[in-house]
Amino acid sequence: MLIFNFYPYDLKFSEVFAVAGNARTGTDIIYVELAYDGKIGYGEASFPPYMKEKREDNLLYLSQLDFSRFESPFLYKEIYDYMDHVSPMHTPAKAAIDMALLDLQGKLKGVSVGNMLAIESSPNIYTSFTIGIGEADFILRQLKRAADFSFIKVKLNGDILYNKNTVELIQRHSNQALGVDFNGGFTDKELALEMIDWLAEKKVAYVEQPLPISLENNYIFLKEKSPLDIYGDESIQNEKDLIEKHHLFDGVNVKLMKCGGVKKAHEMVLKAKDFQLKTMLGCMAESSVAISAAAQLAPLFDRVDLDGNLMVANEIFKGVSVENGRLVFPTNHKMGLGTVKI
Ligand code: MG
Repeated sequence: MLIFNFYPYDLKFSEVFAVAGNARTGTDIIYVELAYDGKIGYGEASFPPYMKEKREDNLLYLSQLDFSRFESPFLYKEIYDYMDHVSPMHTPAKAAIDMALLDLQGKLKGVSVGNMLAIESSPNIYTSFTIGIGEADFILRQLKRAADFSFIKVKLNGDILYNKNTVELIQRHSNQALGVDFNGGFTDKELALEMIDWLAEKKVAYVEQPLPISLENNYIFLKEKSPLDIYGDESIQNEKDLIEKHHLFDGVNVKLMKCGGVKKAHEMVLKAKDFQLKTMLGCMAESSVAISAAAQLAPLFDRVDLDGNLMVANEIFKGVSVENGRLVFPTNHKMGLGTVKI
């Protein structure tokens, strides 16, 4: 019988983190645990404030689930169907259960989750380092932390002057490759294009979600004119969005919290490749549990942006870590997701 436990936890950041729309010093999360035959699988749900899903609702949802009705953690499809039957929403909670189930399966079999999904592991997977919005001294401080990474993603907004000053500041102090995430900061497609043209002159590698979901129709114009690849993030939450909106973008940012877990993200990246889209593996601000889960899929993606745990100051788990910008998979906890409580 599966034994289920879950609890809220407040992640604290080492610095204020700001993007277009909000600034904060932490993120609400939920940890879940599924135990079977002496092993425990761990999962995590993260709730950044800009997401529709809220922790309280997801806690209530989890309290309604009865996993004791399932004989084994290997009944993955039956368990996921049951969760969908109880509610069509609560995607982060489902992502957490997906992680815990796969972690548990991997631990019971003595293999990694990536192995179970027939994904060939790679010792050379590099993540970008994300720099939030802030004053020049903040950007410079973050640049120091990013020194060992080969790729930086910088958060910008709809303020052209801020954006230009920030990119020039970064490029004066670093020659690392640079990507830009607008988080839907622009409300005018012509201004967004002007900005993207300027970023292309500055040899920026790509841009992410320049326009908000409400102005999605304008992506047809932007995609046609933009010299840089445009990745959709907020616009493409799950596989359904991917099927409906893939023609609006050059690439997609896939995140476990948006789509509902490792298996859903796996299906999404394969579908994105079918659509000839570039692929990025992203994350929310989250701890090592969710980052280690996403990392299992990393070899399948063109770009990896799994740095959400690097700003967390109060981790109670450890798993995949980052050394010189490279993902390092734990050697002594190879099974499942490789996460352990500290
Ligand atoms: Mg993004």
